[in-house]
Amino acid sequence: MGYAPVGQTLRMSRVIVVGAGVVGLTCAVRLLEAGHRVDVFARDLPLESTSAVAAALWYPYRALPQDRVTSWSATTYAVLDAIADTDPDSGVRMLEGTEVFTRRQGEPWWRSAVPALDRETALPAGYSDGWTFTTPVADMPVYLRWLVGRVEELGGTLTRLNLRALPEGADVVVNCSGLGARLLGSDRTVVPVRGQVLYLEQVGLDRWWLDGAGPTYVVPRAHDIVVGGSDEEGEWSRTPSPESATDILERATRLVPALRGAKVLRQKVGLRPVRPAVRLERTGDVVHCYGHGGAGVTLSWGCADEVVALVANGAAPGGAAPGGADG
Ligand SMILES: Cc1cc2nc3c(=O)[nH]c(=O)nc-3n(C[C@H](O)[C@H](O)[C@H](O)COP(=O)(O)OP(=O)(O)OC[C@H]3O[C@@H](n4cnc5c(N)ncnc54)[C@H](O)[C@@H]3O)c2cc1C
Repeated sequence: MGYAPVGQTLRMSRVIVVGAGVVGLTCAVRLLEAGHRVDVFARDLPLESTSAVAAALWYPYRALPQDRVTSWSATTYAVLDAIADTDPDSGVRMLEGTEVFTRRQGEPWWRSAVPALDRETALPAGYSDGWTFTTPVADMPVYLRWLVGRVEELGGTLTRLNLRALPEGADVVVNCSGLGARLLGSDRTVVPVRGQVLYLEQVGLDRWWLDGAGPTYVVPRAHDIVVGGSDEEGEWSRTPSPESATDILERATRLVPALRGAKVLRQKVGLRPVRPAVRLERTGDVVHCYGHGGAGVTLSWGCADEVVALVANGAAPGGAAPGGADG
């Protein structure tokens, strides 16, 4: 593909990636493209992971620090734009939509990550400001399958394995275990933030909507509409709550009245791996890459480039010291 990074000093290694969510698979693709031998081990296969639940709108949500997140998001935006352009089977497309607010807003902190942002004047009732922009949207089951296909065609493997500790026997292990890093990274600062989504029948919606004040969003896909959400810190239950479903549907219908009466097809819950800051650093023979919060899709390609640099020569692109992203 024409979007691989160039100019890195490479030493070919045997790499084990732990985790087959969007972060682990994207890292695996980039590492394989860089010429490494890569095996992915995961307890949950891609369609069983949190990543499969993501809406999945490119949007830097619940992930820090802001400067690194903006940079990773900008890289990911460009790569997903190129994928949407070149591969219609990837499940990724560019879609215009609007983030709305009840008060006048300044530009978002991640402004430099998107090519264009327009103040919106045609707003739903109850809102007084909004930003309209075009952003990548991924139909996650399709996109995760596409990523697995890339891993396999580049010669990587994917094996189900429930690990009690990071594996041995590789030159480098890349820890993309999300919430699993509580065990595999002995890191209690990564916590679940529970999110519930509903899938509604498509009613002809062709743009996304997001309420900047809270976890309400409406993201159309080819055959359904993902409607969310919730944001419950420290909650581990993966069972959808009927009360949350009613609340989500009410909020979403206020935001997009055209959803009224649309049939609910199914519901899902995912646990966002939230951390005070994304952990992307090399410690000995382990590169940690987890804690992407509500933005794993949004950060995936930017983080993967940095992982490749850390695997190759132990230094972040641009010479930043390992650990610099870990706040
Ligand atoms: C409702 C909801 C909506 C979201 N919407 C968006 C969105 O619109 N845009 C966006 O960018 N992000 C969104 N997110 C966030 C996004 O889903 C996460 O940031 C992302 O999935 C994190 O990816 P990951 O690969 O790090 O983790 P995961 O997808 O959780 O994958 C972790 C992997 O590690 C494996 N693992 C863990 N422990 C072990 C172990 N002991 N042994 C072996 N393997 C192990 C797991 O089995 C799994 O394969 C949303 C999340 C939710 C819940």
